[in-house]
Amino acid sequence: MMSSPKKAVLLIHGGAGTLLRSKMDEVQEAKYRGALQAILLAGEAQLAAGAAALDVVVEAVRQLEECELFNAGKGAVYTAAATHELDACVMDGSNLQAGAVAGLSRTRNPVLAAQAVLRHSKHVMFVGAAADALAASHGLEQVAPDWFGTKQRFEQLQRAQQTDAGALLDHDGQAGGQAPIVEQSKFGTVGAVALDLQGHLAAATSTGGMTNKAVGRVGDSPLIGAGCYANDATVAVSCTGTGEAFMRSCAAFDVSALMAYQGLSVQAAAEQVVLEKLPKLGGAGGLIALAANGEFSLPFNTAGMYRGHVSLGNAPVVAIYRDEA
Ligand code: ASP
Repeated sequence: MMSSPKKAVLLIHGGAGTLLRSKMDEVQEAKYRGALQAILLAGEAQLAAGAAALDVVVEAVRQLEECELFNAGKGAVYTAAATHELDACVMDGSNLQAGAVAGLSRTRNPVLAAQAVLRHSKHVMFVGAAADALAASHGLEQVAPDWFGTKQRFEQLQRAQQTDAGALLDHDGQAGGQAPIVEQSKFGTVGAVALDLQGHLAAATSTGGMTNKAVGRVGDSPLIGAGCYANDATVAVSCTGTGEAFMRSCAAFDVSALMAYQGLSVQAAAEQVVLEKLPKLGGAGGLIALAANGEFSLPFNTAGMYRGHVSLGNAPVVAIYRDEA
């Protein structure tokens, strides 16, 4: 946990899992670090210019969706039927407004669809074709359903199906040597949380879900209080991991509740959820949590988590493995 002197902070993640140095190809590692660093720098510039936290997290997640390395937007994992079903959520801590979408298959940037729900609808969550249609009606780019796929993701699906491994977290399902992970233990969901100069918090999460997931399955990522939550009174949170455990424990809201009801620090609350509560439900993964006072925590119970943070005026910090700051 650290605190930001200038009270404008951005945290991002690109998923957690069995991220081991021994499995990491140097070139691939540099790509991950470079992508995270560039997104943090862009977000810092936005914050310095006075942008709202909500706009900053949406833009950070949009950029993560555009990056094939991560399991969201382009590069999303495949369902058991070799299709894509994308989920996303955004929440504004200043007024508790939220927007969420699940099961998208045509909207290029699911996080923008979630933002459109927040901005334009009196409802909070849309699913499937109707969610794509809502996004299209607000001018968001539509793509062919196979646009999201990559060769690597398809091979990941084939491996999962050949080994009868069930649904896999993304960073667990990539090819050995091509990715910094051990098979069977990686999550590639992306997320961002920010505190802006006005003192407001926001959170956004976006995912392709889990490789080889059943058609129609929705995880924690688009569910407010499970994979995403923001409240100026407490904390902004974005999660990654085995969605079902995060749903059953209302993980993101639980961090907020522990702070509100027990007066815990963001670090104590986030660590209790990730290191104590989730493992009891079989939940592997992590989260990023940023408190209204600028303190933050990025705990995970896996070997690693793609993550980074930047505070206004300071250099961005990017990390992958457990032994990094
Ligand atoms: N939480 C996501 C899900 O269950 C997976 C991930 O974090 O990669 O859909």
